[in-house]
Amino acid sequence: MEKAERSRVLVVEDEEAYVDALTVGLSREGFDVSVARTGAEALSGFDECDPDVVLLDLMLPSVSGLDVCRELRSRSTVPIIMVTAKSAEVDTVVGLEVGADDYVTKPYRIRELVARIRALLRREDIIRAEAGRSTPVADTGSDTPVDEAIVVGDVSLDVAKHEVVIRGEEVSLPLKEFELLHYLMANAGRVLTRDALIDRVWGHDYVGDTKTLDVHIKRLRGKVEQEPSKPGVIVTIRGLGYKFERQR
Ligand code: CA
Repeated sequence: MEKAERSRVLVVEDEEAYVDALTVGLSREGFDVSVARTGAEALSGFDECDPDVVLLDLMLPSVSGLDVCRELRSRSTVPIIMVTAKSAEVDTVVGLEVGADDYVTKPYRIRELVARIRALLRREDIIRAEAGRSTPVADTGSDTPVDEAIVVGDVSLDVAKHEVVIRGEEVSLPLKEFELLHYLMANAGRVLTRDALIDRVWGHDYVGDTKTLDVHIKRLRGKVEQEPSKPGVIVTIRGLGYKFERQR
């Protein structure tokens, strides 16, 4: 199926005031907007809608936003921005843990939301462009090697195929996890600061907090580490950031 030029946002939201404001605001910013008013509707219409990004309210009737997020993640790597209430901090962490790429809290400004959406789409464009390259590039600078595959220890990551294999098993990673792992592995053995990781993966204009990074690291550890509670691959460098260990 041909993708339209405009990016499509699937808005999963049951509050009419938000639906109206988002439909008008996002259309004005050049997005196509589809609306699902329940979790069930979001899941059943997802394939046909084929969105470029999903804006998912957590507080939905019947099927919860968390369950929708979990289910979408099992089917797709589509970028997901979760919407939570300011009072429900814990939901944010849980939402990130089940696979969201970013979050905003209500009430939010359309301008802030659009910046987040653009940041996610921009990163996805870069991934697609890298994946489209058929031959390895000899020298692209130290921070973005576009090699066929990076192998460190028992983890192998292939940018061209958007594939990750851990201890012989292919693992499907959501967009931000993939980018984070890519950046860490491309710099294996080096300490990467938290700021550098956030800039690189979420963009210079990222206005969220560092919780997003920490939860993504936790999710990656859950997949990469033999013992996620005692990480020996993605290690914390206290006061600085993280390092992907070069393994023998
Ligand atoms: Ca709601």
